[in-house]
Amino acid sequence: MIDYHLHVIAHGDRPMTVENILEYCEVARARGVRQMGITEHDRYLDEIDLAAFQEAREISRDVELRLGIEIDFVPGAEQRMDHDATALPYDYVIGSVHRVDNKEIDRATDQRIYDRYETYDLYAAYYANVRKAALSGRFEVLGHPDLIKIFGHFPQREITPILEETADAVAESGTVVDVNAAGLRKPIGEVYPSADFLKMFHRRGVPIILSSDAHAADQVALGYDTSLALVHDIGYREVATFRNHEQGTLPL
Ligand SMILES: [Zn+2]
Ligand SMILES: [Zn+2]
Repeated sequence: MIDYHLHVIAHGDRPMTVENILEYCEVARARGVRQMGITEHDRYLDEIDLAAFQEAREISRDVELRLGIEIDFVPGAEQRMDHDATALPYDYVIGSVHRVDNKEIDRATDQRIYDRYETYDLYAAYYANVRKAALSGRFEVLGHPDLIKIFGHFPQREITPILEETADAVAESGTVVDVNAAGLRKPIGEVYPSADFLKMFHRRGVPIILSSDAHAADQVALGYDTSLALVHDIGYREVATFRNHEQGTLPL
């Protein structure tokens, strides 16, 4: 079992100390996670303490540690993304779409974007960004690929063709999909991606990682009963792993 997308610093909530990392490892160990990847948001890049990470990696016995980063994909910000994606000796890089027209779509305290745009147009623009992120060649993993559903705003028009087109792009790009349990803690109350979207990825042979997107130690591997049942039902039997940008697999 792996948890490959989580945040120790979170949103500046705590420093990346050996002690704080090991607290996450302890929860991971108790919940059967054998590899844990720390993937801070790239805007906290300067707060990633590589020495603390390396020391924790030495100390941690039952849980192997990996270092990644979650890059906020914004078309036009290539320089920032390239810098952040290569700044540290990562094992892998996650690209996540959180924005349409550079405006956040997942901010609980400001959901005005869902009033400003026609919902179908917003979805179309969101998934266009997801395809661009996958095809950019910058990322090994595509984070929470249907984050746009977070607050449960859905267009009336059918979006299946958009999802199929997006799954095609992801398969073509060779990117791995993040099966992310954080959606269970949000108003939508389901894993990212949805069962239908995940089936599209599975049919195309797209590999997955599993993650909790934890922003606190007690969220490590939270919701995995649901994620595991989902990926199993759809037919996945292994997850992708990364070490120094080399892709491997582990049985589920
Ligand atoms: Zn994210
Ligand atoms: Zn995240």
